[in-house]
Amino acid sequence: MTETTENQEQHTITLTTEQMVTLLSGRDTWSTQPVESAGIRSVRLSDGPHGLRVQEEGGDPLGFLPSLPATCFPPAVALGSSWDPGVVAKVGEALGREAQAAGIDIILGPGVNIKRSPLCGRNFEYLSEDPLLSGVLGAAYVKGVQSTGVGASVKHFAANNQETDRMRVSADVDERTLREIYLPAFERVVKEAEPATVMCAYNKINGVYGSENRWLLTEVLRRQWGFTGAVVSDWGAVHDPAAAVRAGVDLEMPGTRGRSVRELMAAVVAGELDEAVVSESAERVRRLGRYGLGETNAVDPDAHHAIAREAASACTVLLKNEDVLPLSPDARIVVIGEFARTPRFQGGGSSHVNATRIDSFLCAAEEHARGPIEFAAGYDVDGDGDPRPLREAAVTAAAACEVAVIFVGLGEADESEGFDRTSIDLPEAQTALIRAVSTVSAKTVVVLSHGGVVGLEGWHDDVDAIVDGFLLGQAGGSALAEIIYGVVNPSGKLAETIPMRLEDTASFTNFPGEQGHVVYGERLFVGYRSVATTGVAVRYPFGHGLSYTTFRVRRFQVSVTGSDRVTVSVAVENVGDRDGAHVIQIYVDASSRGFVQRPARELRAFAKVFIPAGRSADLELALDRRAFAYWDTELSDWCVTPGEYRVILGRDALTSDAEETVILGGDHIVRELTLRSTVQEWFDHPVVGPILLETLESKLLFGLAQPGTLRVLGSLPMQKIVNLVGEGIPPGAIESLMAMTVHSEK
Ligand code: BGC
Repeated sequence: MTETTENQEQHTITLTTEQMVTLLSGRDTWSTQPVESAGIRSVRLSDGPHGLRVQEEGGDPLGFLPSLPATCFPPAVALGSSWDPGVVAKVGEALGREAQAAGIDIILGPGVNIKRSPLCGRNFEYLSEDPLLSGVLGAAYVKGVQSTGVGASVKHFAANNQETDRMRVSADVDERTLREIYLPAFERVVKEAEPATVMCAYNKINGVYGSENRWLLTEVLRRQWGFTGAVVSDWGAVHDPAAAVRAGVDLEMPGTRGRSVRELMAAVVAGELDEAVVSESAERVRRLGRYGLGETNAVDPDAHHAIAREAASACTVLLKNEDVLPLSPDARIVVIGEFARTPRFQGGGSSHVNATRIDSFLCAAEEHARGPIEFAAGYDVDGDGDPRPLREAAVTAAAACEVAVIFVGLGEADESEGFDRTSIDLPEAQTALIRAVSTVSAKTVVVLSHGGVVGLEGWHDDVDAIVDGFLLGQAGGSALAEIIYGVVNPSGKLAETIPMRLEDTASFTNFPGEQGHVVYGERLFVGYRSVATTGVAVRYPFGHGLSYTTFRVRRFQVSVTGSDRVTVSVAVENVGDRDGAHVIQIYVDASSRGFVQRPARELRAFAKVFIPAGRSADLELALDRRAFAYWDTELSDWCVTPGEYRVILGRDALTSDAEETVILGGDHIVRELTLRSTVQEWFDHPVVGPILLETLESKLLFGLAQPGTLRVLGSLPMQKIVNLVGEGIPPGAIESLMAMTVHSEK
């Protein structure tokens, strides 16, 4: 077998083809194959994303076998609601330190897949239904982890938005939807944070496995976005090792005990796999050895627990508050619900962490309250047995107190990696409990613990406050106590719409697909993009979240700074008597631009800012070309249509605090006209349209330009008109008009 010699950084390493091929497949479940003779070490990987799952021996990718204790930070469902890249970066740094101390070189996270349906079993591992929020926070996570020298792995690339049939299903998504909704978070993470690896998804994308999708892994990821790291397969995502390497997978995980190496060698020998491609992939795997070489210090579990608590406080969303929160330490409260005593703080599957310790709300609340706190379990998490005795005991306790704080949510068995939910309802025993308690209780506060969105219908109006705690990690209990007793002012905002009904969500009729295909028929209209456009009512919109203080916004101004960009400025004043953090949310409404369909709201910039009581902050945010662009499938490029755009300062995705309409010059695009272009396209054409109306030829076609006629005949291809009018059109006239459109420019 031939030998290749490569110049690598400082030194020259000679690897045989066999050695190179060996590098492309893992040694075991969690580490890469070393080539000691060439000085290439084995690299250790571990889940991810919100805490380490280091398994001592053997191990499994599904989270069944035990792992060493590690801090369980808030999972992505909570981190997304922080809207705070600073908080996420801090969690990333802490994760990096834990990895470094545990001898882990690469952490398998963050997950930046878009929450397409509330039912996806892994939504708790994903940040948001919005690509900008997911991308900004995903990049912050990677920067945080990698600042410690440990590498990150952004996953699962791409369109991995469900668990049903997750290893086979084809996500059938048109390119514009991919470019605008499902790829931008990955794109931002790759371009801004340069992750060590990108993990390809199990599923197919338009019929081609994520691990064999050359368009995605090589054309888009490497050529268009400039990714220089390694592509690692999701665990077990490779079906045909040679096809995977040809498509752009560098490292197959886990190892296959030599089978893949043999198959790759055979493919090279048979000329089916180019040795140059193997060599490039081997080099990328070798370069992973750069990660995990930072300084190793012992981790202080208490300090990391404190980071987990701080992050959890920043993520909690106060959904509703009618004069009840924060609680006074003197309030006589009853805490109801098993989750207050036995917290639900993380999800199941490969991200499952063996937490170093767990704070329960019940214990934490005792540190804030002056008097004793009563507790009633209220329900059985597994839903076993007759719910009435537990409910009745809770009702009796609530009747004797001033405030009932009820913890409800989903149990570990209700949602997990590996399957999707079929409903967004809370267990019936819990909703019955809320209704029964709120009838007797003077004030009722509901605290939610769940990974995927839960519906609030049937009891929402009966309660005085709702605190959304998602899954907050191991310190969630104490973070929630600090919020509920007002030690911390809530500042989280929903990263996902809470619908009235599952049926109101745009993917409802297409999820989870059938017979191996899931059609993304709702296209761009995911989450708030759908309801902002259709007007369908929601319980709480994306971006919603209350505070214990009040913020006023003033002097909202939008300045056009170029043909395709603006700068937004605004002053935010904290007019209440508590310090707090506010999130400026800037949306663009391009829906009046008729050329292609646009959602009525798209988040295009945001910033979270802490403002002490009585103070104000001036903010400036830039909206670049991409804030106004759509993906043009004819041009295969981003395109900004000239004309009007509404720039909206949103309190949330559906509520505008201020807005301005701007006119942008956009791109001057001369689209090619052919005889297959419609009459309407000819008349609308910026170059040919005016000529058609003015010249001699146009007189012949003049009748067509009358609004009534154009409406009827506008969709006919020009060829049909030429056939009809025939000799009436001077020879060559149509051809010379078409020639004017041949070169397109921007
Ligand atoms: C999951 C990945 C995870 C990997 C390793 C897979 O089943 O999809 O997210 O990183 O296992 O545990």
